[in-house]
Amino acid sequence: MKLQYRFSLFVIIVPLIFAACNRAEAQPTRTELVLGTACSVTLYDQGAPRVYRNIFRRIEEIEKRMSVNLPGTDIARINAAAGRSSVQVQSDVFLVIERALHFAELSGGAFDPTVGPLVSLWGIGGDYQRVPSQAEIDDVLPLVNWRDVQLDRGECSVFLKRSGMALDLGAIAKGYAADEAAAIIADNGIKPAIIDFGGNILAVGRKKNKSLWSVGVQNPNEGRGAYAGILHITGQSVVTSGVYERFFEKDGERYHHIFSPSTGRPADNGLLSVTIIAPVSMNADALSTAVFVMGYEKGRALIDSLPETEAVFIFKDLSVRKTAGADFTLTDESFRFEY
Ligand code: AMP
Ligand code: MG
Repeated sequence: MKLQYRFSLFVIIVPLIFAACNRAEAQPTRTELVLGTACSVTLYDQGAPRVYRNIFRRIEEIEKRMSVNLPGTDIARINAAAGRSSVQVQSDVFLVIERALHFAELSGGAFDPTVGPLVSLWGIGGDYQRVPSQAEIDDVLPLVNWRDVQLDRGECSVFLKRSGMALDLGAIAKGYAADEAAAIIADNGIKPAIIDFGGNILAVGRKKNKSLWSVGVQNPNEGRGAYAGILHITGQSVVTSGVYERFFEKDGERYHHIFSPSTGRPADNGLLSVTIIAPVSMNADALSTAVFVMGYEKGRALIDSLPETEAVFIFKDLSVRKTAGADFTLTDESFRFEY
């Protein structure tokens, strides 16, 4: 299992090296390791070093406020005060928590930003990843409940009602960060641009020749960069949640990082990945996780109810379904469309 983790690190690092080499040839891409992943921004306009600096400064600020893994972040302070006191936070942290609770309600609790105790228990992708006992899962499950997060908008404060609760914004913060990067790019009048935060894509504006952007959708069964198909988009975000992102294997069983808050186990409903296309990256990010946990039937109904939101579903049996407005073409022959 450790080997798998190292391998995925290697897969991330190698493209980084290529990106670094390319920079000397004036490739307009800047990549940094932040938010626990490789974050890239490509500004297709000249004179942008100051804009790149501003973008990455803002992304680092978001990480310093919203990460669960760094000490002293607003999220770490909220978690440390769980069951005791409310904690005043930065307005952006408040906004993301508010949006996370919105998606928790919208998804009937499939998306739940209080999954922190489950994330810690399983430790997926970390040094202590393991399959916990049912008793351990049962102990932790009562702590996972988005309704026990109390917000005070006037005070800009957050209170977790029960000791042991913990927020984890891992399923939404990258999307928010992409939107913030896009806002900085727009403020500087730069178009077009591509933001790629660990596969969380946001296209800003149209390409110079007015053609659509092509975005590869990861083949969940192959190494990073192998695509199942290609999506064509204009100025939208594309975000995928899948079993391949972070996982370990034990006794032939794969354990990935997206949990069902009702079972306390990795969500398992026949899906390998869910890709969401939507104008706002934070929404696409939250929805990809939500729909992955909800499963196809309920998840598709949710997506169909939302304006300007499309989806591509890849199943374990290699069948693929998509919503009518998703401009998606399969490129890998092992997959097939099912309607
Ligand atoms: P994503 O890759 O956007 O689907 O986010 C997955 C990450 O979100 C995990 O690594 C956890 O930190 C967190 N997470 C896992 N399960 C859930 C869930 N059901 N609702 C919200 N966040 C979750
Ligand atoms: Mg997500």
